[in-house]
Amino acid sequence: MEQIKQKIFILDTSAILSGKPICLDDSKMITAPGVSKELKPGGRDHQSFQYLIEKGLTIYSPSKESLDEIDAVSTKSGDIDRLSNADKEILALALDINKEKNKEAVVLTDDYSIQNVAYIIGINVETISQKGITKKFKWTYKCSGCSKKFKENIKVCPICGALTKNIVSCNKDISRKKCDR
Ligand SMILES: [Zn+2]
Repeated sequence: MEQIKQKIFILDTSAILSGKPICLDDSKMITAPGVSKELKPGGRDHQSFQYLIEKGLTIYSPSKESLDEIDAVSTKSGDIDRLSNADKEILALALDINKEKNKEAVVLTDDYSIQNVAYIIGINVETISQKGITKKFKWTYKCSGCSKKFKENIKVCPICGALTKNIVSCNKDISRKKCDR
């Protein structure tokens, strides 16, 4: 009997920058340390990243052995100059996961060089659009005092005068899969 493999989704920078709510139910989401370094601190990109961390995105470092393998393959294919350090880490992580028993890596990316190298070494890739995710995050503002929510960018609550916080609301209808929890 063939055992069902647990899918591990690996998000690259383009997946995070897409600003789309990536909700994968019980599947695990991971990313590499280099990815967070590619995001502008304090910006919207970072908010997307923080949101995904809250949804269970975990950061893992790939093995040196797999990084060397990615270097070798991408040099041969001519993709090496188009791959950032973070991109290489993402691909190496996929190799590491595929070596584990009963686990299967799926790289979530819109980056063509990543897709190309992944194809050469037999790593599964899904693009963001394939996930059926078509809308961006919805940002709302919540008062830190009375908890009233505002659609507009309001810094100070007109009701109680407290400062508002920028929060993301994940709309269930956005993707085919469940977003809540
Ligand atoms: Zn208030």
